[in-house]
Amino acid sequence: MESGGNSLPSGSDGVKRKVSYFYDPEVGNYYYGQGHPMKPHRIRMTHALLAHYGLLQHMQVLKPAPAKDRDLCKFHADDYVDFLRGITPEAQQDQLRQLKRFNVGEDCPVFDGLYSFCQTYAGGSVGGAVKLNHGVCDIAINWAGGLHHAKKCEASGFCYVNDIVLAILELLKVHERVLYVDIDIHHGDGVEEAFYATDRVMTVSFHKFGDYFPGTGDIRDIGYGKGKYYSLNVPLDDGIDDESYMSLFKPIMGKVMEVFRPGAVVLQCGADSLSGDRLGCFNLSIKGHAECVKYMRSFNVPLLMLGGGGYTIRNVARCWCYETGVALGMELEDKMPQHEYYEYFGPDYTLHVAPSNMENKNFRDLLDDIRSKLLDNLSKLQHAPSVPFQERPPDTELHQRDEDQDDKDERWGPDSDTELDDYSNPVPGRVKREYIEVDRNDSGNYHKHSDRGRDLDMPFKENASSKVSVVVPMAVDEPSIKEEQDISKEVSDQRLR
Ligand SMILES: [Zn+2]
Repeated sequence: MESGGNSLPSGSDGVKRKVSYFYDPEVGNYYYGQGHPMKPHRIRMTHALLAHYGLLQHMQVLKPAPAKDRDLCKFHADDYVDFLRGITPEAQQDQLRQLKRFNVGEDCPVFDGLYSFCQTYAGGSVGGAVKLNHGVCDIAINWAGGLHHAKKCEASGFCYVNDIVLAILELLKVHERVLYVDIDIHHGDGVEEAFYATDRVMTVSFHKFGDYFPGTGDIRDIGYGKGKYYSLNVPLDDGIDDESYMSLFKPIMGKVMEVFRPGAVVLQCGADSLSGDRLGCFNLSIKGHAECVKYMRSFNVPLLMLGGGGYTIRNVARCWCYETGVALGMELEDKMPQHEYYEYFGPDYTLHVAPSNMENKNFRDLLDDIRSKLLDNLSKLQHAPSVPFQERPPDTELHQRDEDQDDKDERWGPDSDTELDDYSNPVPGRVKREYIEVDRNDSGNYHKHSDRGRDLDMPFKENASSKVSVVVPMAVDEPSIKEEQDISKEVSDQRLR
């Protein structure tokens, strides 16, 4: 048995996983407003369930370092970030033009603490990516993240900043290829758009398509330029059940893993695809939803698990609690433990709920057709001449950097997040700050760089297709490794359980 206590055997494959879980005790206090379906309180309910099921002691529990302006600006436009930082409910009337320009107001309202909310949920996702990059854990979880609709300079679908894009950019510093999988009922449009023209990020979205928000995600949208065949869209109809969903998910994701061979996987676990969701129209059980997690976990590739949609909040908490158990390789009892939100889960007080008897409009032949189309696209990717499936460039050199050199990413070091509990293990020993310089002139894919400027990190390209604000990652940036610090500081927040 390994001494690292946050590592547990998985249920089926017996392989241990170390899990880092990001949670800010403040996150449940943010409030979109009366009647708004998005309720950050669901994250606190999830956390309470995790605590009372006894899962917290099996993970490293971390309070994320809030993302700073410059971190958000690695994807978002400066003026949009400035706007989010400055806007208050009181100042709204004076900024009507700006509100309209950035699509803030209705679906995406201005509320108290909006900017700190964005910093918190983005901080958790980027922090998770950093932990994975440093090999501190095998799986990182941030249920507050997964806000997949946010665009470079526009809020959309209850999302303000796109923590997923930011986390993927962080993973790209270390990993040649990153896979994004989205099982929210809505199309993962913000993430797809950001990486539409690159072959270093493959995006796969399973979603309701046809007269449904956000309207994108047609099966014929496959990527652009170098990114052709690196976007996959799985359009589904009302009432899809576990069996139908799996008849697509497993063969498609199995093939994606085989041909794309990602160094890291980001899984957006939007829970609005569950049966009985307030905004959704699918009929998945929690076990069916979690089967996607189990399957992606089985490939033993560093995995970042994020939240997303989910509007019947008792079921969201159930789902993400169960999926945290899946990450840890622990099967949870159906009977719920007593806890502060117990009354939400009546009359049965169980973890699982039966799906409904609604009609499944996803007929067999339609599903077969979708599967064969997508597998066909994947086979083109497999045989494409320019597919860069080489491992990392051979001329990669490791350099030590001066410890006192200014590091703009300092707070994203492996210890930048605060450990919330003292029962987790200390992180592994001293790590020297290193950086990787890449020079590969033959393909133009990578550029040697001595500067850590934003332009090198984040070259944007206005795309000739209808897609905009596309990120074309060009440089393998250095990991922000630095001196270890003591992180056993305990947070004395009363609400932490
Ligand atoms: Zn959604």
